[in-house]
Amino acid sequence: MKAEIISVGTELLRGEITNTNSKILASFLLDLGIEGNYQQVVIDKASSIKEALTIAIKRADLIILSGGLGPTPDDITKEVVAEFLSTHLVLDEEQWNYIQHYFVSQGRNQTPTDRRQALYFEGGVPFRTQDGLACGTAYKNENSQYFICLPGPPAELSAMLHQTIKPYLLSELSNLPIIQTVNLNFSGIGEAQLAYQIEDIMSDYNPSIIAIYSKPMQIRVRVTTKSNNALQAQTLSQEIADRILAKLDPYFIGYGENQTIETYIIEALTKRGQTLGISESLTGGQVSAALTEIPGASKVIRGALVTYQEQSKIDLLKIDPQVLQRYSVYSKECAFEMAKATQSLLQTDYSLSLTGVAGPGSDQGHPAGQVFVTVCGPLGTISSREYQIPPRGRHYVRELARKYALQQVKDMLELKSNKGSFIS
Ligand code: ATP
Ligand code: MG
Repeated sequence: MKAEIISVGTELLRGEITNTNSKILASFLLDLGIEGNYQQVVIDKASSIKEALTIAIKRADLIILSGGLGPTPDDITKEVVAEFLSTHLVLDEEQWNYIQHYFVSQGRNQTPTDRRQALYFEGGVPFRTQDGLACGTAYKNENSQYFICLPGPPAELSAMLHQTIKPYLLSELSNLPIIQTVNLNFSGIGEAQLAYQIEDIMSDYNPSIIAIYSKPMQIRVRVTTKSNNALQAQTLSQEIADRILAKLDPYFIGYGENQTIETYIIEALTKRGQTLGISESLTGGQVSAALTEIPGASKVIRGALVTYQEQSKIDLLKIDPQVLQRYSVYSKECAFEMAKATQSLLQTDYSLSLTGVAGPGSDQGHPAGQVFVTVCGPLGTISSREYQIPPRGRHYVRELARKYALQQVKDMLELKSNKGSFIS
């Protein structure tokens, strides 16, 4: 089965909104065992939509359009597709009743064009909704090609996909292969190094099976297998995942689409019943914010201080002003004092501190991007490191400082690469 997604919307081509629907649709289809072959983005103009359909009909069995089902004059998708398919649009009484009821319940007056939202392809099916007003619709032509129109707002589109489109496609399309996906997340290793380490595994399988997606400081390896038998697909995915893990275990931070280094740290501390305290300078609370995003953080993150100015380091963390005078606030000595004070002030097993120059310019002779991070652990263990982050603006420096600091906490939790390079 070859699928093609056509996203309709002038605002998409103007860069005013991000085309998240195509992502939602592509993963939805893949979960059903349908791989997308092509995607198009077109403006809300009849000739453009028809042109896209003319291309798609030559190469796809399933064509899904999103956007342009609403009541305004630029919402023309259903009309254009109906004309292209030489069919008509007819009213779905149930959706129309819902729309009318909705306007009454909201105390609003409907306009004559609102009725268009209840139209569907004659000879096809309506996909009713109460998550929005416009129903979706599908049509199967004489060549058994499917055309599906879906609403543009992502929440409406997602709800419709799961409530009505999925059962529709499953009942229409038999013999869809089972697709099994396993996501493996890694941190603390570069993309090239990771690819090099699993080169032999990758060459053993079809190139579409193992994919590497890299974000700063985190890499996801996605294993996707296809089979007509669910157990077979699952076994093969796990076998490949196990081979990858055997090579990259030290960098592994967990399975799944949502696993991050923050999740890993919260889970690791929770498992051990240990706590972490944080004091931040240049990151202004970003590290604490990222960690406390994770559910369950309250059990292990005891507290955090944003000691931004020198004086607040002295007042809140009781750092000896002479240390700051002698070594400067941008020093491993200052980071160490901050972490040590945080550990004892908050009575935690671990503490993390960051100080450095966010930039854009240098400060007190220290270059932008110079960052010092200390992690103190139980029994006096200390990891103290200096980073020189490329000075590509404050946002970049602060973001990377946060990621380096979290990686350093992870390393300390595993007592691995704990250089303990500085002890006061
Ligand atoms: P409405 O009834 O709101 O007019 P519609 O089905 O006519 O819905 P559009 O008018 O094309 O859809 O888009 C409505 C809104 O949905 C857009 O302003 C945008 O916020 C969102 N949207 C549309 N297409 C996409 C897309 N491909 N990705 C993300 N958001 C989208
Ligand atoms: Mg619209």
